[in-house]
Amino acid sequence: MTTEERIHSLRDQLREHNYNYYVLDKPVISDYDFDQLLKELQQLEDENPEFFDPNSPTQRVGGEVTKNFETVAHTYRMYSLDNSYSKEDLESWEKRIKKLVDGTVEYTCELKYDGASMSLTYEKGKLVRAVTRGDGFKGDDVTTNVKTIRSVPLHLKGDYPERFEIRGEIVLPFEGFAQMNAERLEAGEEPYRNPRNTASGSLKLQDSAEVAKRPLDCLLYSIKGEDLPFSTQYEGLQKAHDWGFKVPEVYKLAKNIDEVLAFVNYWDVHRHDLPYETDGVVIKVNNLQQQEELGYTAKAPRWAMAYKFKAEQATTVLHTITYQVGRTGAITPVANLEPVELAGTIVKRASLHNADQIAKLDIREGDTVFVEKGGEIIPKIIGVDFTQRDPDSNATTYIETCPECDTELVRAEGEALHYCPNAQGCPPQIIGRIQHYISRKAMDIEGLGGETVALLVNNNLIANYADLYELTKEDVLPLERMAEKSAENLINGIEASKQIPFERVLFALGIRYVGETVAKKLAKEFKSIEALSQADAETLVAVDEIGERIAESVVAFFDSEKNREIVQRLKQFGVQLEISAEKLANQTDILQGKKFVVSGVFTSVSRNELKKLIEDNGGKVSSGVSGNTDYLVAGENMGPSKRTKAENLGVPIISEQDFLGMID
Ligand code: AMP
Ligand code: ZN
Repeated sequence: MTTEERIHSLRDQLREHNYNYYVLDKPVISDYDFDQLLKELQQLEDENPEFFDPNSPTQRVGGEVTKNFETVAHTYRMYSLDNSYSKEDLESWEKRIKKLVDGTVEYTCELKYDGASMSLTYEKGKLVRAVTRGDGFKGDDVTTNVKTIRSVPLHLKGDYPERFEIRGEIVLPFEGFAQMNAERLEAGEEPYRNPRNTASGSLKLQDSAEVAKRPLDCLLYSIKGEDLPFSTQYEGLQKAHDWGFKVPEVYKLAKNIDEVLAFVNYWDVHRHDLPYETDGVVIKVNNLQQQEELGYTAKAPRWAMAYKFKAEQATTVLHTITYQVGRTGAITPVANLEPVELAGTIVKRASLHNADQIAKLDIREGDTVFVEKGGEIIPKIIGVDFTQRDPDSNATTYIETCPECDTELVRAEGEALHYCPNAQGCPPQIIGRIQHYISRKAMDIEGLGGETVALLVNNNLIANYADLYELTKEDVLPLERMAEKSAENLINGIEASKQIPFERVLFALGIRYVGETVAKKLAKEFKSIEALSQADAETLVAVDEIGERIAESVVAFFDSEKNREIVQRLKQFGVQLEISAEKLANQTDILQGKKFVVSGVFTSVSRNELKKLIEDNGGKVSSGVSGNTDYLVAGENMGPSKRTKAENLGVPIISEQDFLGMID
């Protein structure tokens, strides 16, 4: 078998396995074997760039960065749907239909998925474009991001039409959503509110590698095109399935409105067993000929109707409002409720979000309230049953001082939340900050957990993360459930954290708004805590992707004498507070702001080394040539399409030697 044949064979195998796993949910090989095949393909592609294919299974991991998403017109407008809420609504819809078309009318019933709508275009069986709904006439081209979603086929199977669009919904399954939030909480970040917004937000991330990490899924339900090989919606779904698309697992043909209602009533109850959020049923006239006769109103098809499920609601009594203090000092008001069953779980607490929300709804202790559970994990209070209100009750006054340390709360202009400013003296903030410092994505201190941190603080053994480095075995041994061995592990774990690289230390410091990605950016840009601490807001904002909010927060952090002292101590203990000399030795910013595309085979360095050289010297590597590419570094056997594109766009094409000369 030639290399080319092997590459094609690997791609075919991987596509099939991908389909079995993500679309059919029936893997036939182990994850390990899958990874081996993928690795082999990756290596062959790296070594033989002339066989590059943007739709290869290796491209699922993303990597391309999009600064501005291009606006693209939809070939077929993406309409909205009319809503119905009752049997009567559906019956009058059917009457309107029967006036406009002859013959029997059948319906398909599908679930209405609550995600981000998407239109995919396929040509000759390959995905060529993915566009968001936008305003229905035009949307954003998010192809690079959508390609990373494993259930979106990049290549189709069977007898698909030459060119068509297929529409559907990008969703984030509950389980993946919960997992993402667990990780965020561990990193001390605010959890996402609901799967739908997180799904649509994900599509607009600039870094497709970041999108690849999110457990997104894509369900497709509507095909648009000329001369399609089917005549009903139901057949369309079956065909889509045959071509390799993931179509909704449940859809049903209904002969009349009663059968439609049976489907609605069944799923109103059973939707809670589904892995995704659904907010209703979509009913479509099955026959495409009839659909065409019915046509569209200004906003929606006449041949389709959404039946909205009622959001699950319950009434219960609000006993008390309490306030929680987070690690950044943010105050969250919480409603403590008389336990009540809602969407299959017992609800005892609900989020009240902030002071404005409480005032807007006029929520008071002792009130009977309506609780609703939408996509959010924590249910929310949507209103008060005023008929039940005790006439002697008083409006809620929001707390003015911290429930934990009595410090007067502050609320910055334009912010929804109140904060306790006593960062150094407020127990939950002290404990929360140290817990964040030791967490997995930060200093990853083995042998030390969140509960032990609380114990250490409560026993006055530590008051900040620098104190960790002065702990001795003798200090910790007297603690509850602390054996000789675990004490040793704890001390060793702390010692080992001195090797953690600067960028993670910077994240671990817990500066508000400095998450993992921002910390990486800042570390790379400033190289040492010294330089960072001296930067003013203006200098910080000049850095790519650093906004005012972050800049101000960084400046405020280093303005605090206490923080400077703690950082100084970390330095003395030997924690990494600058990019290591080794790493720095090969780094310059000669290529600052320059964008490169690398293509072909090189002689004195490998492709990956070349990419690393670009990045180490401040440049950026992207995979496709575009108008803002500065140089195309051409090796042997460079892909002809890249060359043509570069030539057309006037992007300079340079050789390996030219490039090495640039950084010499
Ligand atoms: P709305 O945004 O409330 O007007 O509802 C219309 C949207 O519902 C469409 O744009 C789709 O994104 C979404 N939708 C979810 N599931 C389906 C489905 N099975 N068929 C059609 N549209 C659906
Ligand atoms: Zn406080």
